[in-house]
Amino acid sequence: MTPLPPIRIGLGWDRHRLVPGRDCVLGGLRLPCEVGPAGHSDGDAVLHALMDALLGAAGLDDLGTLFPDDDPRWEGASSLDLLDEVLARLRQVRMAPVSVDLVVACDRPRLAPHRASIRALVAERLGLPVDRVNLKGKTTESAGGPIETVECHAVALLRERRDEVGAD
Ligand code: MG
Repeated sequence: MTPLPPIRIGLGWDRHRLVPGRDCVLGGLRLPCEVGPAGHSDGDAVLHALMDALLGAAGLDDLGTLFPDDDPRWEGASSLDLLDEVLARLRQVRMAPVSVDLVVACDRPRLAPHRASIRALVAERLGLPVDRVNLKGKTTESAGGPIETVECHAVALLRERRDEVGAD
């Protein structure tokens, strides 16, 4: 059989309600906003979508399987810590990120002022140059209905490291 190319692509999506009284943690950063994503963990829909894209590309099921939302261990968990756990799983199967692209849709907070910071933070965690982590912010123009949400779509490209000399 012809060897398959040593790259994998994955897709992730997540959506959380935005509610008062929650910290607004998106892309690993706490942003100034009157509402924040509800959720069992910190509700960071951006990192949740990213993690599902990474896991999907690696063929490692999904976030809900790794971190069940009825497991008290993950209550209030930082999604950055969960991302580190996902990256450890990728290393176990000898895969590494190549690039990721994120689309975030919400009417608030405005993401534009924070886009560079989120890209830099995610790139640092993934061990990538910042130009390999892109983030696009969209508003819904209130088209999302009466329930305010933040929604994120993510794609991730991985490379297999199996044949690399010195790969751990
Ligand atoms: Mg989620």
